[in-house]
Amino acid sequence: MLHLSLKELNRQFRNGTLSSVTLLESTLRRLDLIKDLNVFISECRDEALEAAKISDKYRTESTPRPLEGLTVAVKDNFCVKGTRTTCASLMLDNFVSPYNATVVEKSINAGGIIIGKTNLDEFAMGSGTTDSFYGPTRNIWRSGIKYRLQDVNGNDVGETGGLDGTWAVAGGSSGGSAVAVAAGAAVVGLGSDTGGSVRIPAAWCGITSIKPSYGLVSRHGLIPLVNSLDVPGLMARTVQDLDTFFRVLCGRDIMDSTTVEFNCSDEEINLNKVKFGVPREYYCEGMTDEVLQSLSEVCDILEYSGSRIVSTSLPHTSLAVPCYSVLNPCEVASNMARYDGLEFGLRGEDESSTDALYASSRSSGFNEVVRGRILAGNYFLLKKHYDEYFLQGLKIRRLILNDFLNCWDEVDFLVTPVCLSDAPSYSDYIKEDNRTQTAKQDHCTQPVNLAGLPAVTVPVKLSSRSLPLSVQIIGPYGSDLKLLKLAKILEEKVNFPKIILEEE
Ligand code: GLN
Repeated sequence: MLHLSLKELNRQFRNGTLSSVTLLESTLRRLDLIKDLNVFISECRDEALEAAKISDKYRTESTPRPLEGLTVAVKDNFCVKGTRTTCASLMLDNFVSPYNATVVEKSINAGGIIIGKTNLDEFAMGSGTTDSFYGPTRNIWRSGIKYRLQDVNGNDVGETGGLDGTWAVAGGSSGGSAVAVAAGAAVVGLGSDTGGSVRIPAAWCGITSIKPSYGLVSRHGLIPLVNSLDVPGLMARTVQDLDTFFRVLCGRDIMDSTTVEFNCSDEEINLNKVKFGVPREYYCEGMTDEVLQSLSEVCDILEYSGSRIVSTSLPHTSLAVPCYSVLNPCEVASNMARYDGLEFGLRGEDESSTDALYASSRSSGFNEVVRGRILAGNYFLLKKHYDEYFLQGLKIRRLILNDFLNCWDEVDFLVTPVCLSDAPSYSDYIKEDNRTQTAKQDHCTQPVNLAGLPAVTVPVKLSSRSLPLSVQIIGPYGSDLKLLKLAKILEEKVNFPKIILEEE
């Protein structure tokens, strides 16, 4: 039952063949089955069981809520009251959150059951979930665990999962949530997306995701990476589930002054009237033929369904990664200042002076990636460098936004690859450092964050290595619901298979 969509689960809940407790019990067995994938940093088994009992009571006594009894995996950079919230860093290894992030609170109020806190790259810096203090997360699609594949109509379409060579990375930084959802250990997953961290793992794990328009979903209780770029991102196995989850989470929040009222158009979409652009600049060196082929097949499907597809240009795209690489460390340097070993975070051993305490806390609490970004950010923010780096970065950010604004005069949406290839094997991925991988893998994802726009990803086919290949659809600000509708249409047409683990 763990691979079922929310709609089917709800049907079974309604006719009494399934209860929240039974669903949760199978989920907990699933957590045991995928233990070696290193998906969770902490599990919330007891709390989840209590919540499932309450949920069953709720279902019998009143109208079920939108996520009634459904399991939610939460990236470990969102605060969940009473749980450790580590950001996958030794710095916060024993930080227990005293409150719920708004998205967590909304999930719980809608009947969702939090099953655990998932792995990520330390402080969400990375694209692979390879740089966590708790070790890397393995991609269920190539992890050594055997599984069957089932198409949308429930037909078996193969058996696979064997390992030739090493296991594949999950994608990051929200890799734990993506694998939890792909493996059926959660119906929906919460991640955060600053430069691609929800879309990349979703793409590599064969599930759907949405990076909402900036401000539509509250960041309150999401431990910040880059406040001006961060958004909570959502993942699910089907677009319908994603849509339900999105509607639960979005809306203005007095705890996050950057949120806006939710008034996205919910109009139906007629593909005959839609014009898609394929941005020339999203092709980049290192992108595999298979990725390009899958994009072109998606364009064919859309064209065959009556849409128009045109080649378009976003001329400043190549500046997005350099711009992000300046703005990200600048905000990181300022955000990370709070972890001083006195007020927040691990307390270092050297107490000979306050400075020595700061230094020992920060050098032992953070990994090399985080320390590197703090150093870079402080360098860019020095008075003598400020104009040349930070201000320049802000100006380029504006050019990137303008590219998108100009292109909406010509096309309604953009369809692009998500990353350069299918999920790389771990041994290949770590041949290059975090910075190099981020600069490469985020080519098609970072511009969207810099412009604050919404984007969805949809898995479309399997590569020659039997790993998922996905596409991204980007829309104008506030077109989130339309994107979900487009994603749903595409999902129906591509019939991408789902993983069924043996136990089911
Ligand atoms: N890979 C990017 C980075 O390391 C994006 C991370 C994210 O979206 N959280 O900064």
